[in-house]
Amino acid sequence: MGEEIYNELVKAVEAHNISQDVQVVKTGCFGFCEQGPIVKILPEEAFYVKVTPDDAPELVAEHVVKGRQVDRLLYKEPGMEKASNKIDDMGFYQKQFRIVLRNCGFINPEDIDEYIGRNGYQSLGKVLTELSPDDVIEELKKSGLRGRGGAGFPSWMKLSFSKGVTGVDQKYVVCNADEGDPGAYMDRSTLEGDPHSIIEAMAINAYTIGADKGFIYIRAEYPLAIERLEVAMKQARDYGLLGDNILGTDFSFDIEIRLGAGAFVCGEETALISSIEGKRGVPTPRPPFPPVKGLWGKPTCVNNVETLANIPVIIEKGGDWFKKIGTEKTSGTKVFALTGKVNNSGLIEVPMGTTLREIIFDIGGGIKDGKKFKAAQTGGPSGGVITEEHLDTPIDFDNLVALGSMMGSGGLIVMDEDDCIVDVTKFYLDFSVDESCGKCSPCRIGGRKLYDILDKISKGSATAEDVDKIDAIAEAMKKASLCGLGQTTPNPVLSILHYFRDELFSHINEKV
Ligand code: SF4
Repeated sequence: MGEEIYNELVKAVEAHNISQDVQVVKTGCFGFCEQGPIVKILPEEAFYVKVTPDDAPELVAEHVVKGRQVDRLLYKEPGMEKASNKIDDMGFYQKQFRIVLRNCGFINPEDIDEYIGRNGYQSLGKVLTELSPDDVIEELKKSGLRGRGGAGFPSWMKLSFSKGVTGVDQKYVVCNADEGDPGAYMDRSTLEGDPHSIIEAMAINAYTIGADKGFIYIRAEYPLAIERLEVAMKQARDYGLLGDNILGTDFSFDIEIRLGAGAFVCGEETALISSIEGKRGVPTPRPPFPPVKGLWGKPTCVNNVETLANIPVIIEKGGDWFKKIGTEKTSGTKVFALTGKVNNSGLIEVPMGTTLREIIFDIGGGIKDGKKFKAAQTGGPSGGVITEEHLDTPIDFDNLVALGSMMGSGGLIVMDEDDCIVDVTKFYLDFSVDESCGKCSPCRIGGRKLYDILDKISKGSATAEDVDKIDAIAEAMKKASLCGLGQTTPNPVLSILHYFRDELFSHINEKV
């Protein structure tokens, strides 16, 4: 519908003969999905929600031409005295802090000048003219940036490992945009809204480790993100920001896009590397680790989209600035795709350390239809549930693991009192079993066994002995699976066994 609204706005602007003064610009996602499509009018930053193509003529005639706001398209939430068109009045935005999404919804992602206008490519210029590769690593070390793809590995360390490999003729940087968790769309939105930030970060990483070639591995199901990346890469080449002798230096670097075919396991570094090499996308044992021996046996630094989007800002504002945001062990922010039974679903970015209560009730506006909160699943199929008693835990990598869940890439699904925890967990397990590549038996067989037990529980035909087997199967999967997919597949089951044991057993007892 966004395209139709855009066309109608353009028509209305032309009809009023104001095209020389008024520009209609497409942007990336503003994040507030629940209220979309959104139209923002500058310079007053008026924010109109739930706009349809039919509203376009009125918005132009009233707001743009006559300077009168269109009341029926204003936002109103419980507790607000009156409807508003200001972002600052909206609970959804008040606790957010945008680093990764800084440009999403603000610039035309297909116009490099708009990115440059918001300090884009300034960090690359700084790196190439003022900083040595060691300086970049030092700045990232100071920042405390940890990989946002799930594991939270320190970003500076990966670069340092790759940089430290000498005597090789080729190194690579890779952007992992193979986002596949159910309910997750953080990377897609970032790429659609701000593709240049990823190109800039990859160039910085390439300079740091001594690579001249990069790959963006992205799901083929993200056509708009791919299209915008292609436009951005062409513009960057035209501006001398990709290609030979970037900005007149002796640093050369270019990027190729490789499309993934939707296998979840290809988000795992070694599987992704195999897939780029043209092989079947299955994980391989580590060591060797990709930063030392990756693509075609060469040092390869793989980072996910969100991690990369932070890097230009860290170089621009400094590692010390970044380190002050978030918690002691996890600095910076986290982007979440907030979905499920919450009033304000959408894409959000909050400082690490924000509590789940703040995310669900302040930003998310609470549970739909006044229902009671039951649990939230973080970490997608690799994570677990967070219950009411832990809503005030500050979110960071370590705290979530301590609760038996994990940060994952950022899918956050909220459940209410009506949701059956067994059914939800069965859904995740079904996903993981389906996505297992089958290479190793603990995952291939263990996942299926766990699913069968859960299926029996949900149908009331399980016994207490079946439930007793869960721990042993999970233990074997965690210890013996080759990659993270198999190692984390039992997490949702273990989590409900811990937090919702009574509900789980009630499924059995009901039918006895
Ligand atoms: Fe494949 Fe699962 Fe083994 Fe990973 S753990 S290699 S997904 S079978």
